Amino acid sequence: MAAMDSIRNIVILTGAGISAESGIDTFRGANDGRGGLWENHRVEDVATPGAYERDPDLVLRFYDMRRAAIQDKQPNAAHHALARLDREWAREPGRELLIVTQNVDDLHQRGGARRVLHMHGQHLTAWCGACDMRSPWTGPLAQRPPCPACGAAALRPDIVWFGEMPYRMDEIYAALRKADLFVSIGTSGAVYPAAGFVRSARELGIRTLELNLERSQGSDWFHETRLGPATQVVPAWVDELLGG
Ligand code: NAD
Repeated sequence: MAAMDSIRNIVILTGAGISAESGIDTFRGANDGRGGLWENHRVEDVATPGAYERDPDLVLRFYDMRRAAIQDKQPNAAHHALARLDREWAREPGRELLIVTQNVDDLHQRGGARRVLHMHGQHLTAWCGACDMRSPWTGPLAQRPPCPACGAAALRPDIVWFGEMPYRMDEIYAALRKADLFVSIGTSGAVYPAAGFVRSARELGIRTLELNLERSQGSDWFHETRLGPATQVVPAWVDELLGG
């Protein structure tokens, strides 16, 4: 990657592709042959506020299954490489790093990364519709357990559904404005506003790099694209950036 010496501040966007080799199903890949189904459900039946209003039991059971499924999955070499970058990059004065993830699993954290922002929420917290508190949560929600904070049976998955506003957008754009490098890893570029970060980065004059199994929808916006499985291309890029 050109002009590596001039890079100080990095924003990394990750998507479902970084967790694919840990055994967590992605949502869509151009060639996945699943016809828009996710774990045999149409997205609009499980991942929208309307779906939750229509059939809360189905939605809660779907997320109970996903929440249970991520807990026996392990971070892979790509998560570990980003955790190493997280540890080593910002140790130098004047350098910053932020990992913005669309993922709702906890594999970045379990891999050891600390500067992680979950813009689409997380499986391992529950959000109370009565008192607005978020609580750590590993079990099911379908039986309507009481909120640990207020006792109301009003907990929902702390997941940003389609049509809802992603979290912490101000922080993300503030980090982008300071960045010299934007890297997108394992995301199809189909879900906005995350899919628009590369365009914002270009408008801000930031160097952009895509690491993905296949070209994303916004691939033409990137200065450089490296194709391959995340467990190979991410550690190789981190080694290059950190000098081996
Ligand atoms: P996506 O499913 O739309 O796209 C996955 C991308 O990953 C594709 O571009 C595909 O080519 C790439 N990919 C697949 N296997 C890969 C590999 N081994 N190495 C590198 N890249 C690989 O994912 P998205 O763009 O993140 O959007 C999906 C939405 O669904 C997000 O909002 C996310 O919140 C949610 N989601 C999250 C998880 C998770 O937390 N692990 C899983 C599925 C969906």
